[in-house]
Amino acid sequence: MAADEETLLALLNSAGRPTDELADPESARRWLREHKIPARVEDAATLREGRDLLRAVVRGERPPRALAPLLAGVVSRPSIGADGLTWTVDLHGARAVLVDAVIAWDELNRTRPGRLRPCANDECARFLIDRSKSNSARWCSMATCGNKLKARRHYRRARGGEDTAE
Ligand SMILES: [Zn+2]
Repeated sequence: MAADEETLLALLNSAGRPTDELADPESARRWLREHKIPARVEDAATLREGRDLLRAVVRGERPPRALAPLLAGVVSRPSIGADGLTWTVDLHGARAVLVDAVIAWDELNRTRPGRLRPCANDECARFLIDRSKSNSARWCSMATCGNKLKARRHYRRARGGEDTAE
């Protein structure tokens, strides 16, 4: 997985565990370190705002245009080297993280539409990037959501109940 995709997914999922990882300085510090996010704890509020916009757009609750504030005033600077052009965004900290996340989101939309989606467990607020050939992944994690729902269905079948979606 590309580093930016990993960051995008980590950012989206920082709100769904079920607590908000960025809500208090201590967990924000831990989260930033754990995911190697180049931002300061003081930037957590900015990250949280941007993350909530991204979450709403990925869920289809807001149009992509809602991300415009994250890109306001962003300038990309080209430089040339042995391998050709490199584009650098002159930003640091939370704003750079959010711009990279928007770029990763856009790239996913273009190259693998629909692959970034909410977990199929209604009680889960996390997202997944489906990399399977069949595009059939449904859970953010088989170990948590996948097995939990399977167990519930099994229980219901054993009782003779309906095997319907939650
Ligand atoms: Zn889940």
